[in-house]
Amino acid sequence: MPTIHFEGNDFFCAEDESILECMTRHGVMIPSSCQSGACQTCMIRAIEGTPTPESQQGLKDTMKAQNYFLACVCKPTEDMTIGLSVISPRQTVKLLSRDVLNESVIRLRLEEPEDFSYKAGQFINLVRPYDELTRSYSLASIPGDGFLELQVKRVADGQMSNWLFDGLTVGEEIQFFGPAGDCFYIPGAAEQPLLLVGTGTGLAPLYGILRHVLAEGHTGPVHLFHASLAAAGLYLEEELRRLAEQHEQLRYIPCVLHGDVPEGGQQGHIADLPASMLGSLSGYRAFLCGDPPIVNALRQKCFMGGVAMQDIHADPFVFSPTQEN
Ligand SMILES: Cc1cc2nc3c(=O)[nH]c(=O)nc-3n(C[C@H](O)[C@H](O)[C@H](O)COP(=O)(O)OP(=O)(O)OC[C@H]3O[C@@H](n4cnc5c(N)ncnc54)[C@H](O)[C@@H]3O)c2cc1C
Repeated sequence: MPTIHFEGNDFFCAEDESILECMTRHGVMIPSSCQSGACQTCMIRAIEGTPTPESQQGLKDTMKAQNYFLACVCKPTEDMTIGLSVISPRQTVKLLSRDVLNESVIRLRLEEPEDFSYKAGQFINLVRPYDELTRSYSLASIPGDGFLELQVKRVADGQMSNWLFDGLTVGEEIQFFGPAGDCFYIPGAAEQPLLLVGTGTGLAPLYGILRHVLAEGHTGPVHLFHASLAAAGLYLEEELRRLAEQHEQLRYIPCVLHGDVPEGGQQGHIADLPASMLGSLSGYRAFLCGDPPIVNALRQKCFMGGVAMQDIHADPFVFSPTQEN
């Protein structure tokens, strides 16, 4: 059984146990959230020993080279010495405003720290100050907005989302670290058709990406599908319709599974709608965000429809499997 050395103590890793599970079982708290290798909250560093390849998937080459890895998906095959070095320092910012976008989604605007650099579509990890609860939220703002915007859905019994709705007050401070994630637009190939598909608050990163794409002068067609079970779950419709009027290459398609179909919208399963409306997706660049099973289904449909694997950028909003941080 591999032994994990940490701050002068030895911890024995059980069979099929991740380093995060091992440390948690021994009472050592490593901040974590999604526990499936998506949010990067539990990134730590191997001082000795080699991290498994899957625990470095999605990390920047510079991070890999420094032996950073994700503790939640690292099932060690050899003894390792680890360190909890902080990669991206925590920032403390004030909540500037909170607005209601629909009955279950709010928009939060946070102060943007000086020298904070991010790409539209990336996410940050919010830390609740009094208990270190950590959750990921996508940035809906773009650099230059002068604030960081988040769009948050209230999850039944959700610890962080309910606190963001009802607990955190305007003017109060909150911490975050990041940014992380590689679901963003890289300028170039301005004529390439773009497909943006989001469910629920999966619109948040897409809203940022869309504004970045338009600001960069992208000339190819841009199809934005925003899906919800019913029309009440959609938001920013007016704003998106206005953008579509101002930019002839942009098409905004609100989608519902059942109930009244919004003007210019579609009814049906969102995993099927893009290909059934657009036909072949060959040559497209796709950005897919939101509910994990739907994002995974869309990823497959896009690939089958002709989108090259390297042109599929996805951010499944994987949620924390436990009630704890
Ligand atoms: C990369 C990334 C980006 C994200 N971006 C956003 C964003 O922009 N906006 C946003 O609102 N959320 C986003 N999320 C999800 C967010 O991180 C939290 O998981 C979510 O807010 C729930 O946290 P909570 O503490 O309120 O709920 P928890 O206390 O973690 O969960 C409470 C209960 O609800 C279940 N649960 C949690 N989430 C869901 C869900 N979506 N569907 C069904 N059951 C659920 C849990 O399993 C648990 O039983 C993102 C996640 C990732 C990984």
